[in-house]
Amino acid sequence: MPSGRVHNLINIAAYSVLSAGVLLVTREGHLSVTPLQALHFSLGFFVGTFLLSPDLDLAEGRVDSKRRWGLLGFLWVPYGMLCRHRGLSHTWLLGPLTRLAYLAVIAGLIVGLLRFVWPDVPLPRLPQPISLKVVVPLLTGYYLSQWLHLIADGVRPDHGLRQARREVRKRC
Ligand SMILES: [Zn+2]
Repeated sequence: MPSGRVHNLINIAAYSVLSAGVLLVTREGHLSVTPLQALHFSLGFFVGTFLLSPDLDLAEGRVDSKRRWGLLGFLWVPYGMLCRHRGLSHTWLLGPLTRLAYLAVIAGLIVGLLRFVWPDVPLPRLPQPISLKVVVPLLTGYYLSQWLHLIADGVRPDHGLRQARREVRKRC
C-alpha cells in the first residue's frame, strides 16, 4: 500500500497530466471550461488529496491528511474509530461521502456550540441555493482525487459489494 506521500505525488502527477490535456482540448475548441469551473474542480481535487484522504480511517496513527489539519487533527480520531481501515472508507461511492457527511456533522456541532455560547456570533453563510455550476466541478475534483487513491491502493470499484457479500457469507 503506498504511503501518504506517494499518494500525494500520484495525485499531483495525474492533475498535471489532466490539466495539460484539458488545456489542449479547450484550445482546440472541443471543450469549454470556465476559469471558475477549473478553480472549483482544483479546489475539490486538492482538498480531497491533502485534507480528506481515505486513509483518515487510520486517524489514530500518524496520517498525512490528519497532520495537515494541524491542531484540529484530533477531530478525525472518532472517524478512524468508526471506520475500519480499508473498509467503508475505501469504497468508491459511499467512502468519499462518509468523510463529507462526517465533516458536515462536525461543522454543525461547532456552529451549534458557538451559537449556544455566543448567540450573536457572526458566522459565514453558505450561498443559497448552492449552484450546480459550483457543486458539480467541486464534487468531480473531490471524487477523482479519492478514486486515484483507491486505484493506487488496488481497491476495485466493487470493493463495498464484495465486502458485504463476505459479511453475509460469514453470517449464513
Ligand atoms: Zn488508502
